[in-house]
Amino acid sequence: MKFTIQSKVPNSLARAGIIETPHGIIETPAFIPVGTKATVKAVPTDLIKDKVGADAVLANTYHLYLQPGDKIIKKAGGLGKFMNWSGPTFTDSGGFQAFSLGTVKGRGKKIADRNDQLSMINDQESQGEIDSESMMAKIDDNGVTFKSVIDGSEHRFTPERSIEIQHNIGADLIFAFDECATPGADYDYQKKAVERTRLWAERCLIKHKSYKDQIALLGIVQGGRHEDLRRQSAKDIGEMKLPSGESFDGFGIGGSFDKDDIGTAVKWVNEVLPENKPRHLLGIGEPIDLILGVANGVDTFDCVAPTRLARTGAAYVYPSENFLDADGNKKGRINLLNSEFKEDFGPLDPSCSCDTCKNYSRAYLAHLFRAKEMLGATLVSVHNLYFLVNLVKKLRQAIIEGKFEEEKEKLLKDFAS
Ligand SMILES: [Zn+2]
Repeated sequence: MKFTIQSKVPNSLARAGIIETPHGIIETPAFIPVGTKATVKAVPTDLIKDKVGADAVLANTYHLYLQPGDKIIKKAGGLGKFMNWSGPTFTDSGGFQAFSLGTVKGRGKKIADRNDQLSMINDQESQGEIDSESMMAKIDDNGVTFKSVIDGSEHRFTPERSIEIQHNIGADLIFAFDECATPGADYDYQKKAVERTRLWAERCLIKHKSYKDQIALLGIVQGGRHEDLRRQSAKDIGEMKLPSGESFDGFGIGGSFDKDDIGTAVKWVNEVLPENKPRHLLGIGEPIDLILGVANGVDTFDCVAPTRLARTGAAYVYPSENFLDADGNKKGRINLLNSEFKEDFGPLDPSCSCDTCKNYSRAYLAHLFRAKEMLGATLVSVHNLYFLVNLVKKLRQAIIEGKFEEEKEKLLKDFAS
């Protein structure tokens, strides 16, 4: 993997670049659609490429390990070949899901995203609902033992095992196995998680080195909302080098974030990480987070929100006079199940140029969701993904044209309204 910075914004962490992988390039900054189980839910891969315009997809190690199993994906010729995606691929390390799906009571519940999941664990912890007996996952200094969300069978991930599984799945970019502490974890626990993440990162790097393939390994930075821990973790992972010379090819920023953390936690990390390697912000994807993320030096993002929301009939819209709430504020999201759309024959979002917006009316999409027709999920998923992918492409273009600060201010003003 090679990363080249094409353009930097003066006095800012924002930059535009190109990640070159054996399966093609990713123009950064970029939003990467999530295909958790080797499918971007409801959207065929040719649409991801031609209609959404995404350069890469990210799949989930935990889910693919449980089903169909990493060995089957290896036999198929790797993740891209298995799912008929010819472009670059990522897998996350599986750690986050092993801890969180294992820990939350009522597993299998629809969980909006990483942030929601972490806060749910947090609530249950603070209410004393999580006790060691009911926990589905147990973490120790060597890894995590967890029960499958599919059949309750017991499994164990260690740093070495996660790397082995990810090499079997065979994505172009893979992540080190880290410990993602819950947002409510106290300073001492976050500190312990940073240390554990450092020790595990080194073990991942050693294991990764034993493979003679072209897969790139990204180290993960933790540290919660504590500046000293974030900077320490970024230094640990950024400077890590084996005696034989191997270091991480890029970095992931893990944890739980709301928009206020992007200008703090993410910024602290990116001020410390080496500039010449790409940085991925894990599991974050609301429009405002993407704008602030790019401004603070993030190169790639992934999030399940656009497809998960789409399946419930929720569509992102560009905030404008077209969509106002009861108080006259511009809305950034609409739900097609609202009765106002039943006889609304306008395009989904008049300012969007995706195929769904060009060809289908709000009334038709509203009908599909009311009738529980599967096509609704596909059409709105294409729109939501296009919306985010193109929002980040717009930021990239602005960086290259030297107009980033103006574009950022305009978008922040629109999306904050
Ligand atoms: Zn659209």
